[in-house]
Amino acid sequence: MENSSRIDKRSSAAFQEAKGLIPGGVNSPVRAFKSVGLTPLFMESGSGSRVTDIDGNTFIDYVGSWGPLIVGHAHPTVLEAIHATAVKGTSFGAPTLLETEMAKLVIERVPSIDMVRMVNSGTEATMSALRLARGFTKRDKIVKFEGSYHGHADALLIKAGSGVATLGLPDSPGVPSSVASNTITVPYNDLASVKLVFEKFGEEIAALIVEPIAGNMGVVPPAAGFLQGLRDITKQYGSLLIFDEVMTGFRVHKNCAQGLYGVTPDLTCLGKVIGGGLPVGAYGGRLDIMEQMAPAGPIYQAGTLSGNPLAMAAGYATLSLLGQPNVYEELERKSAKLEAGFAANAAEFGIASTINRVGSMVCPFFTETKVTNYDTAKTSDLNRFNAYFGHLLDLGVSVAPSQFEGMFVSTVHSDEDIELTIGAHREALKRL
Ligand code: PMP
Repeated sequence: MENSSRIDKRSSAAFQEAKGLIPGGVNSPVRAFKSVGLTPLFMESGSGSRVTDIDGNTFIDYVGSWGPLIVGHAHPTVLEAIHATAVKGTSFGAPTLLETEMAKLVIERVPSIDMVRMVNSGTEATMSALRLARGFTKRDKIVKFEGSYHGHADALLIKAGSGVATLGLPDSPGVPSSVASNTITVPYNDLASVKLVFEKFGEEIAALIVEPIAGNMGVVPPAAGFLQGLRDITKQYGSLLIFDEVMTGFRVHKNCAQGLYGVTPDLTCLGKVIGGGLPVGAYGGRLDIMEQMAPAGPIYQAGTLSGNPLAMAAGYATLSLLGQPNVYEELERKSAKLEAGFAANAAEFGIASTINRVGSMVCPFFTETKVTNYDTAKTSDLNRFNAYFGHLLDLGVSVAPSQFEGMFVSTVHSDEDIELTIGAHREALKRL
């Protein structure tokens, strides 16, 4: 689908105006297309696998609102659920039956979750899970992995110092160094470093938080035994294991990444897919831990709009669609086809390429190095990525404007969409 007539006139004007009113013109930084040096497209509508911008350009979309839209844009079942709920009122600040139904469904699907609390974003989920872990263990330190993103709470917006097992440094002005000093960062997929950290600080570590499949350094699967190793080490030291499944939850398997790999965390953070495109996050886990949350227990966390009826309706409808037979098998089949097509294209043009994929999370890197952590992800040729990104847009395919994000295949990407995308990818590589 050639779209080289793409015009960004309205988007450019809209961006100019927005920049005077909203910092950087956007309400979340990655949307600004800054690293790829282009003008962001202002979206007008989405339907199924396609999005249309305000200039009337239509794209096959693999951003999927950065993960939530696993059943595509404006799915009729999701829209109906939102509408039927909205006409009865948009928010009550009182318990509703929908919240209990949603909790039941999440508990049924996620093996490690006995009890769950709804919040409004992934950031809130991880921030609250950390507070819970600290309150429960009465310890302050946490361990996270380099190149992982867990939202923008102070304790998690931390970058490693140089070398292994150093104490964290703030990743942003405004994060107090006193907070950062309680966050220890280690390389992903590196159990030896994790062991060293626990030998040194184990008795002080409240929790280790991990994306079971890293999705914020591009897509990086866990090495064989990595997640189980984390389970064993945290258990040995009485620290909690937190799976941040905000991206992977219900994305890679009907029972989330923990179902796929058969490793049971103490706490799980969810977001994106469980909100079906509305603002939702959740955290849940072992009963004895979750019962420490207010008002059952002493650890405080609250939310005016938490468990919002529209969000619950959209999330419930999405999870119900994902409960149908063969959904994940089909996602796997189409995503494997995409991966194979991309690999063949790269081989045809002799372009350095490593494609990482777990289920419907697909990430082509411009490197020959095996990508297993943030350092190896950074070997990708970013200039090449940026050029490729622009060509793909010209050819009618929308992917995230960053090498360090995956593509999300949805249930409504058709075989024809996949073939068109492989064709566009081929043409984009040819133009490099
Ligand atoms: N954790 C992970 C793994 C994520 O990918 C994200 C968002 N990309 C978050 C947490 C934060 O979620 P939110 O943007 O909803 O706050």
